[in-house]
Amino acid sequence: LSIFSHSMYDDDGGFAGTVVSFNDVTELVLALQAKDDFLSNVSHEFRTPLTSILGYLELSLELGESLPEDVTGYIEVARRNAVRLEQLVEDLLAINAGTFEVHPVTTDIGRTLAEAASSAYVRASRAGLHLVNHAPSSLKAVVDPIRLAQAVDNLLTNAIKYNRRGGSITLDASLDDDGVRVEVADTGIGIEAAELHQVFDRFFRSPSVRTSAVPGVGLGLLITKSIVSEHGGSITVTSEPGQGTCFTMLLPQPGQGTAGSPG
Ligand code: ADP
Repeated sequence: LSIFSHSMYDDDGGFAGTVVSFNDVTELVLALQAKDDFLSNVSHEFRTPLTSILGYLELSLELGESLPEDVTGYIEVARRNAVRLEQLVEDLLAINAGTFEVHPVTTDIGRTLAEAASSAYVRASRAGLHLVNHAPSSLKAVVDPIRLAQAVDNLLTNAIKYNRRGGSITLDASLDDDGVRVEVADTGIGIEAAELHQVFDRFFRSPSVRTSAVPGVGLGLLITKSIVSEHGGSITVTSEPGQGTCFTMLLPQPGQGTAGSPG
């Protein structure tokens, strides 16, 4: 419950009374709690069957040469996707439990970004999009390389999903006094100004996107933001509806910046 009170006076300064307003925020708090509980319960429910699926896929792969080559290929694809799903479940459980963490080490992020770009390149081309990597081929920074790759992959995947045939995507990175800046810009559908502050919320999807055929559940940016926050950094978004969107991650480097230290 939020309570607001204000004393009122009439024109000649005499006390007229007090206005007290009560705002019941219980439902809002309960709704947010319900989302957290749902996320956590669903994640837990996914864990056991996923472990079983992965176990049997790995057992099947061990049969190796007794399987036709293309069947081995299919099982390998299924295993890779099951691993991705397992990673998603573990990340969501960790974020909900407040135990999500990163392990920054000195990394050549030029290479990390080139790898992320080349894996997105195929998907972008298939969607009729032009992807360009402007990041320097070599750039040393203290980051968690696996988590940075995951964050960049999430942003590139969105830049592909929320784009239009013939559109383009640009990846860029630079190092300055504030830290390492990694930028993913697209010429896609854009985001309405009123929705900009919500895109990092769990389960948020723009209403225009929800009714389209673009798949998603609204968890990618939550994970991306967690990765950046755990580096002591920040992520910002600017967008022009119908023109495009730009996400910028700023990761402060040891002895640099004011955004905090990696935690
Ligand atoms: P998902 O893509 O699974 O819906 P995300 O958390 O990655 O979840 O993104 C949340 C929402 O933010 C998307 O559903 C979409 O409405 C919006 N969004 C994210 N990235 C972009 C982008 N590059 N261009 C336009 N909208 C975007």
